Amino acid sequence: MKKLEVGILGATGMVGQRLVSLLEHHPWFEAKWLAASERSAGKTYREACNWRLRDPLPKGVADLAVHECKPAGAPPLLFSSLDSKVAGEVEREFAQAGHVVVSNSSNFRMEQDVPLLIPDVNPEHLALVCEQRKQRKWKGMIVTNPNCTTVGLAMSLAPLEKAFGIEKVLMTSMQAVSGAGYPGIPTLDILGNVVPFIGGEEEKVERETRKLLGKCVDGHVKMGDFIVSAHCNRVMVEDGHTETISVAFRKKVTAADITEAWRAYRSLPQERGLPSAPKHPIVVREERDRPQPKFDLESEHGMATVVGRLRECAVLQFKYVALSHNTIRGAAGAALLNAELMKTEGYLD
Ligand code: NAP
Repeated sequence: MKKLEVGILGATGMVGQRLVSLLEHHPWFEAKWLAASERSAGKTYREACNWRLRDPLPKGVADLAVHECKPAGAPPLLFSSLDSKVAGEVEREFAQAGHVVVSNSSNFRMEQDVPLLIPDVNPEHLALVCEQRKQRKWKGMIVTNPNCTTVGLAMSLAPLEKAFGIEKVLMTSMQAVSGAGYPGIPTLDILGNVVPFIGGEEEKVERETRKLLGKCVDGHVKMGDFIVSAHCNRVMVEDGHTETISVAFRKKVTAADITEAWRAYRSLPQERGLPSAPKHPIVVREERDRPQPKFDLESEHGMATVVGRLRECAVLQFKYVALSHNTIRGAAGAALLNAELMKTEGYLD
């Protein structure tokens, strides 16, 4: 099969680099067009980008020119990992010009007619793009993936909401420094420290989780009928967001019921065998001290949410720990999986 040529907006950043790396061996898509700010435009990718990944910079991409974020000459499908300060305007311009934009940025996530998508959780929300086209008269479209902290929470809750119904959720995060982009948080602020504030993050987690687990009705999403309270913290970990989560359910459940719901969980990406889909979206660890970023981050190539330490909670009903890779499952891998679902649904033809 001839690969589809794709572009990346914000190709030089933390998430952009992950996209370049994951696309190197992708069976369907090939990175052929890169764009970033005017600081980078006109340089080769090798010159413009401070490559921060351990995997080497792919040869086929290193000498590509970095463009300005303007639609002229860009391929029909674009992954966007732009700084949210500019993503809104740029992504709108590309969608208006007829491009499909698969975005990591927060700007459009909560718009009524924009899918906020985790293909393993709410693939049916993709249908919102029909409403989007009607409302906005764009020739293209925007589809988004959630915030990197929302992903582990929403994925671990999805089978539980389906099986038992959720009433209340309390989540405390320990978020990696790569989540703040590059160069990110100054060393003197984070070295030997925990920063108990990440601007806007708690609100994003609280509302995005309810949209993701909500139902698509008459062209919009009816938000999930539960409450979420999030505490978000930045810690001295390179990659991987760890979350401690307490949940109250709508019915009486046992630890065995929860574990069974996690282990049995499969969704459309697994049924269709999408290239970036984890075989097991949720990996359950039995050890008393897992998951840990050091050991569990690469589970299912960074695409699984790893859970463990399930036990009763004296305040809500049960509590557990969840871990997910913030730049793979929480960003670049999430966007790729979204585009793969869109391809199998005929949106990229
Ligand atoms: P980053 O490392 O700061 O990269 C930002 C990118 O945006 C760079 O390519 C940068 O290009 C480009 N950019 C900045 N200002 C621009 C402008 N005025 N015009 C055009 N391009 C501009 O950030 P990141 O961590 O990769 O995050 C990218 C997006 O994904 C953000 O919206 C973020 O919230 C979201 N996200 C991040 C994560 C994560 O774990 N890091 C997870 C989920 C979602 P230059 O190099 O030329 O400046």
